[in-house]
Amino acid sequence: MKQNWNRQLSFMLGIIISISGNAFIDEDKPCGHAQASQFLRDMQPTSEQQKIDISYYGLNFDMDIATTSMEKEFMVSFVVLDTTLETIELDYSTDNLGVGEITVNTAIMDGDTVSFTHSSDMLSIPAPDSVVVGQQIIIHIFSDCGPAGNRDDQGFNWDYEFGQRAIWTNSQPYDARDWWPSVDFPRDKPDSMDIVVTISDYMTVASNGRLISEIDNGDGTKTWHWHVGHPIATYLVSLSIYEFFVWGDEYIDANNDTLPIMFYTYSHPDTPEPSYMTTNYSLLPEMLTLYAGQFGPYPFMDEKYGHAEWGESYGMEHQTLTSMGDPTERRVAHELCHMWYGDMITCHSYHHIWLNEGFARYAEALWWEHRYGNVGYKQKMEDSKRLDRQTGTIYVEDTESDNIFDWWLSYNKGAWVLHMLRHMVGDETFFEILQAYANDPELKYATATTEQFQMVCEEVSGLDLNNFFQQWIYGPSYPRYQNYRAQTGEDLLVQVIQSGITFDMPVDFRIVTTGSVIDTVLRINEDFMTFNFQIPPGEIVTNLVMDPDDWILKTTEYVVGIAENGPEKPEIFSLEPNFPNPFNPSTTIPYTLDEHSSVSMSIVDIQGREVIHLLNASQASGRYQVTWNGQDMDGNSVEAGVYLCRLETETRTAITKLLLVR
Ligand SMILES: [Zn+2]
Repeated sequence: MKQNWNRQLSFMLGIIISISGNAFIDEDKPCGHAQASQFLRDMQPTSEQQKIDISYYGLNFDMDIATTSMEKEFMVSFVVLDTTLETIELDYSTDNLGVGEITVNTAIMDGDTVSFTHSSDMLSIPAPDSVVVGQQIIIHIFSDCGPAGNRDDQGFNWDYEFGQRAIWTNSQPYDARDWWPSVDFPRDKPDSMDIVVTISDYMTVASNGRLISEIDNGDGTKTWHWHVGHPIATYLVSLSIYEFFVWGDEYIDANNDTLPIMFYTYSHPDTPEPSYMTTNYSLLPEMLTLYAGQFGPYPFMDEKYGHAEWGESYGMEHQTLTSMGDPTERRVAHELCHMWYGDMITCHSYHHIWLNEGFARYAEALWWEHRYGNVGYKQKMEDSKRLDRQTGTIYVEDTESDNIFDWWLSYNKGAWVLHMLRHMVGDETFFEILQAYANDPELKYATATTEQFQMVCEEVSGLDLNNFFQQWIYGPSYPRYQNYRAQTGEDLLVQVIQSGITFDMPVDFRIVTTGSVIDTVLRINEDFMTFNFQIPPGEIVTNLVMDPDDWILKTTEYVVGIAENGPEKPEIFSLEPNFPNPFNPSTTIPYTLDEHSSVSMSIVDIQGREVIHLLNASQASGRYQVTWNGQDMDGNSVEAGVYLCRLETETRTAITKLLLVR
């Protein structure tokens, strides 16, 4: 639900005047010291929190630098989803290092002062006696905190940078509650927000969204009002306050619209625009152009993009205003990508954080590909590989632990999933997927799970990708392959063994002989598979390379010879489903022979007319694959539609259905 800020702001200010000096006594005194990094309960919304849908937050801070204290007024607007709602529960710390002791003075619901409790980092307000689904409820909370303790890193920080007072926030994963009350989980985004800060007039307040006003109050303070016009996850809300050096750039999009790019940097007296910043920050317009082309228009064109310096060395993708420490080229690209994947589409819970971090890490490779070519792309993927650290699941089982941000799993292995997907579906389909995902009306400006991303991938590609996502997102580890090869005259026997977990993947193979290079794709989906190849007469196989272009996260070993435990002896004659199916332009058709036989394979259309004859051979028992490139016997591409593949041996016939899409 959209809110009218002007009405609310005046309402909020009106409340401040009417209730000033009317402090409510909180009988439930804050107790205990919650460490921001220690999560106190199951990291999902409470059952009561799941009965409401937040539509709006208004934050209004009056900050006193001298005492590191704040008076805070909050407005929370939500819609009732369930009539059994008994308590309105907002995550709100009672005390923490970053802001000091937090006191809630007054809560007002729909205009009336109401009772509340504030303990164990939860502000609880009894719901009205009876509620109806769809009912909108507005709560105002008056609170204060301070003086602050030491810098806490997580949550809200009263800090010093270059000897001057610096204030910044860092709320991922669950630390927005350290400085404002909310349903502090990614899944419940408000539609809009207002963030208002009053502070000494020499400070600049940077935040999310668009600057509405900067008012000099004439008493040594200024009031800054930022408006966020798009849904935003609580962990992406930020404040950056300093005597900033403010500068900027702009990006002009495909529609000729201009996006302001703002930089808020610390005052380095001699070099207010440090060269390491100007160098990499100047790449932003080109990065925006690249990502807008690949993912769809920049999601916050009506607001801004920018960087605000903070006290951490890394970057954090606060919506429309990344907090940036050391702005390396890869960080600048990474955080920008998050504006699409992470901010516009947010992981529904931190179980699925790879939808944020795997994408942003992969986008670094896309930038490297754009700037440094295929070599750059491949190098970036190689940098993302560290197999000894990548044996866990990408899906984060425990969202209460720091495992959420496992660099080698959530970020790098997540990036590899996209890299592998790209090769499986082909470039064209892959980038269609990225666009379709970013522009899915259900997901855009909302949240997504792995399953929802999988659904988009399947809709766009026409492939059943369940195996792929199950094994790579929910399964631990990666495939460990051993390849054996033995040549006898014109026959090459290749055995592929998987130790550990058996993956099901299409794998590129390159056979190099003294006279030829043979490239083929084999579906490796069992722990022991045997393949037979015909080698041109007189040629000797000099090399066999599995996945020569490194599209799969894996280990590979090569042995010349036959595997000790002998080749598998197939017992069943079968023509297996082709893959991919539906397909375009080509598909692979696997089959198994249980005995030596003459074999023929042909493609016929649904009227029974032969389109092309693919195979006529005498073959030993074993597994084989044939690829059809969607062309007829004259080399012309055939029309989209259903085709039948007919496999015949001396004694048997099998048929499978292929669907060609154009
Ligand atoms: Zn990131």
